[in-house]
Amino acid sequence: MMVVMREEATSAQIEAVAERVQAAGAQAHVSRGDLVTVIGVIGDREHVSSLGLDAEPGVDHVVAITKPYKLASTQYKRGERTVVEIEGRRVGGPHFMTIAGPCTVESRESLLDTARIVRDAGAQLLRGGAYKPRTSPYAFQGLGEAGLRLLAEAKEETGLPIVTELMDVRDTEAVTDVADVIQIGARNMQNYGLLTEAGRSGIPVLLKRGLSATLEDLLMAAEYVLKEGNENVILCERGIRTFETAYRFTLDLLAVPVLKEMTHLPVIVDPSHAAGRRDLVLPMSLAAAAAGADGVIVETHPEPEYAICDGPQALRADGFADYLRQLESVAALAGKELQAA
Ligand code: PEP
Ligand code: MN
Repeated sequence: MMVVMREEATSAQIEAVAERVQAAGAQAHVSRGDLVTVIGVIGDREHVSSLGLDAEPGVDHVVAITKPYKLASTQYKRGERTVVEIEGRRVGGPHFMTIAGPCTVESRESLLDTARIVRDAGAQLLRGGAYKPRTSPYAFQGLGEAGLRLLAEAKEETGLPIVTELMDVRDTEAVTDVADVIQIGARNMQNYGLLTEAGRSGIPVLLKRGLSATLEDLLMAAEYVLKEGNENVILCERGIRTFETAYRFTLDLLAVPVLKEMTHLPVIVDPSHAAGRRDLVLPMSLAAAAAGADGVIVETHPEPEYAICDGPQALRADGFADYLRQLESVAALAGKELQAA
């Protein structure tokens, strides 16, 4: 349920409503808009209704949020889009964001090379995994803390904020020390303990859709982060499992406009993991931008032939600037504002 306060409601009235909600054992999420403040109330529906919050001083009206995802729902923000800001770079609403970098952090030289190239081309954030979710336990699992140190160095050197994956709650402190955005990978989309920790960190979260998750599952996962008071969630469509085997995953681009009806959160697309092939990354990125995506996250590598993981899908770093120019022209056609490098 959502309590919409009157425009002239005082802070004391807002606090009094939030306190009543909490005293009744429910959660109150206060969101202050330009004109009015809205309090999201999460708790047992009947019990919350019986509180008669619409009669409290300063309350304009109370709306039931019918979706199971409450804080993520479009209704909760009354149509307003969430813009997530990461050190001055924005994603969501009119803002298109490009995140690029290697699949995994391999070495200082290749990470710094990639970081400089994508920064100079105009990418806003650097991606790179220090902890890698690999299908095989015998495959390279990432450099761990050494990889995190290299990411910190790359940020220091290029100024690009860092997106890196948190796979295990035991690594929360190490990852949150370095990450400007915590990535929750597809395989962990429903790891509720991890989502809660990521929510508590207060750091923006990039939440990737699970391999066989519905859009509602994805939004319910986002809800775990939001309910911790962390409003900075970016959703990512990265391809789902279908019967098709001609490419790695099926990129569900319908998810972009449909998610935007369902939620106020920004939606970006990862064409690299869906395609599994470099030559498909540009067309799928253009299609994502045309479908209204708020950004893309793509893998790039200076020498993809020698990449430790996901080389076949990595864009060649030396072709990245050209890729980005083409992508930006479609994003502009879709009405997005592009950000200066
Ligand atoms: C990744 O982005 O590095 C990754 C492993 O992606 P996903 O979780 O979508 O497979
Ligand atoms: Mn990868």
